[in-house]
Amino acid sequence: MSLFEKFGQYQEMCDYFEQRGTMPFGAVTERSLSSTEAIVNGHRVILAGTNNYLGLNFDPEAIAAAQRAIEESGTGTTGSRMANGTFAGHVLLERELAEFFNTKAAVLFSTGYSATMGMSATLAGPGEVILLDADSHASIYDGVRLSGAEIIRFRHNDPADLEKRLRRLGKRTEKTLIIVEGIYSMLGDIAPLAEIAAIKRKYGACLMVDEAHSLGVMGDDGRGAAAAAGIEADTDFIVGTFSKSLASIGGYCVSNHPELELVRFAARAYIFTASASPSVIASTRVALRLMQQRPELRKQLWKNARQLHEQLTELGLQVDSHVSPVVAVKTESMETAIRWWEELFQKGIFVNLVIPPASPSTYSLLRCSVSAAHSTEQIQQITDAFSTLTA
Ligand code: PMP
Repeated sequence: MSLFEKFGQYQEMCDYFEQRGTMPFGAVTERSLSSTEAIVNGHRVILAGTNNYLGLNFDPEAIAAAQRAIEESGTGTTGSRMANGTFAGHVLLERELAEFFNTKAAVLFSTGYSATMGMSATLAGPGEVILLDADSHASIYDGVRLSGAEIIRFRHNDPADLEKRLRRLGKRTEKTLIIVEGIYSMLGDIAPLAEIAAIKRKYGACLMVDEAHSLGVMGDDGRGAAAAAGIEADTDFIVGTFSKSLASIGGYCVSNHPELELVRFAARAYIFTASASPSVIASTRVALRLMQQRPELRKQLWKNARQLHEQLTELGLQVDSHVSPVVAVKTESMETAIRWWEELFQKGIFVNLVIPPASPSTYSLLRCSVSAAHSTEQIQQITDAFSTLTA
């Protein structure tokens, strides 16, 4: 017996992939060629497994702003927001986010993970209840575990199951936080937010929506799934990330509850970590503006999503019926998924391989995601590669 015995399973997995001569996890991007192409592990590939929904990672204005910020403010803040790490850019970005979401307050976190985890850990505590969708992201699960609240899961995207569990809580619903996502990261399915908000209202609970994959993708100006469903007024807290549509790194929470300002003094994920670098904040501010100024990016994203979804469905692959920028191909067997991932990679297509327990069920996934920056031809090339896979 040793502390390290539990790591044996990972060694077995690494050995398995080494024998096959591939390693899908942690593949190295050696050179970026554009928003949609790169040299990965020595192969030129079309990037079909990123979260670069609007394709803004090489925007010249965002790059210039980041370069200026480095020259003016240095490479890092070297401290927490509560100590020495609050720079003018952080305050401006918070103001711009609050304005964008039309909320009273906005708080930045250093990553999307720490925003979601930190808020999930802080909003409810001992003696209170958190009701979360069973397919919630790891950052939500990690946060609620830290919260000390009673944790209850409801069936994925099932408002009736949510209501059943709320009903059982009686008066405790007033001290209950419901957590859902806008678009779910693995399958790209969208939460039934109008129904969830109606139930939340009926029982007087609080609602937090993680818009990590829906910012820039849904709603007016890309405000997200809550905006698209018309339930912003019912959404107590929106959390999200800068690492997808805004092509940088960092996270945020916005709310009309003035108490959000006080979360700064309560959320350990906010207090005990260094703030985002000035260059990151600068490029995020530009991307947030471009997202609003260039609605054609969102249009192109959905056009690409429809094209890929339609073409992969026509090939007879196991793809869910909803259309979204995440198009996941399911396989019953993990071996098939791994072999398909390798074949796609050899053919110059990079997708995400997702195997249990990271996938939402027992199946494995080839998770594709589209970007506004993909051309029609690139989407066709992705489809062509899928069409050659052998059963
Ligand atoms: N929430 C969800 C739903 C996510 O999918 C992710 C990232 N995949 C995060 C939070 C964390 O965001 P980040 O990677 O920017 O830390």
